[in-house]
Amino acid sequence: SKTPLTLLGLGAMGTALAGAWLAAGHPLTVWNRTAAKAGPLAARGAAVAAGAAEAVAANRLVVVCLLDDASIEEALAGADLTGKDVVNLITGTPGTARARAAWATARGARYLDGGIMAVPPMIGIPQAGPYVFYSGSRDLFEEHRATLAAPADARYVGADAGFAALHDVALLSAMYGMFGGVAHAFALVRGESVDPRELAPLLSSWLTAMAGSVAATAEHLAAGDYTGGVASSLAMQVAGVPTFLRTAEEQGVSAELLTPYFDLMRRRLAADPARHGAEDLTGVVDLLRG
Ligand code: NDP
Repeated sequence: SKTPLTLLGLGAMGTALAGAWLAAGHPLTVWNRTAAKAGPLAARGAAVAAGAAEAVAANRLVVVCLLDDASIEEALAGADLTGKDVVNLITGTPGTARARAAWATARGARYLDGGIMAVPPMIGIPQAGPYVFYSGSRDLFEEHRATLAAPADARYVGADAGFAALHDVALLSAMYGMFGGVAHAFALVRGESVDPRELAPLLSSWLTAMAGSVAATAEHLAAGDYTGGVASSLAMQVAGVPTFLRTAEEQGVSAELLTPYFDLMRRRLAADPARHGAEDLTGVVDLLRG
């Protein structure tokens, strides 16, 4: 028989998670501040609790998918967490996750934090590749691994409760950098007789090809030397910066998304042109970390 569990929060993500646990045959108790959202899940067999404390009392395993850290404090203020296994899937910072871990542990619970690498339509669809980073209590993770893996693949990244959020935010931060570059590229061709739908596949395949640089950067950071196998040197790339800035100017496009990165490339080179000129772009990492 499948492990019973409680889920707090039936927003877009909570509702998707609930559906996946019901589909996998787990007895599920749900609670949501706005009770009406539980209706369709009740029709599919979920038990609906009248309050958060009652929902927590129903099962040992309690998954929280509320909006933000403030809402967990508000919702669980009156709940008894003694002996509970709390899994917090709210997106937050490493710091809030660590504080929430201390908060739960002080109330007698085991604590696992999660960072969901999926959007709701991917949940419960293994072919879509959804997964969740988990960190915190390894015992909790091992004991409930099969249950946690029903909606999305479960990846444990460490006992430090902040590590799931750290991984989550690292991946999403890289994504926003990519989105920024894509926005600049579309802005360059906007208003020209270039169909954005024709640029799109070119852009996608170029970004996919360039994704190989991620592994090269990691190898350089691990080696502590940024010159191995460099095909595009920092010196060459800094020499090319004016081309990017002038093209933006010619097209009437603001270079505000690109200039911070170009400035870091130039600073790295200027710090020691003879040494850093032969590197790739890895040195920017050191400038950011200070
Ligand atoms: P929604 O905005 O759809 O739902 C928010 C949920 O939080 C609702 O159940 C809402 O209740 C509840 N809530 C908000 N404030 C309070 C409060 N003070 N007390 C009690 N309940 C409260 O958000 P999502 O479901 O999309 O997201 C939930 C979490 O999942 C977030 O932390 C988000 O970052 C994370 N996540 C979401 C992803 C997504 O693509 N949607 C992707 C990855 C992570 P009510 O119905 O009463 O308003």
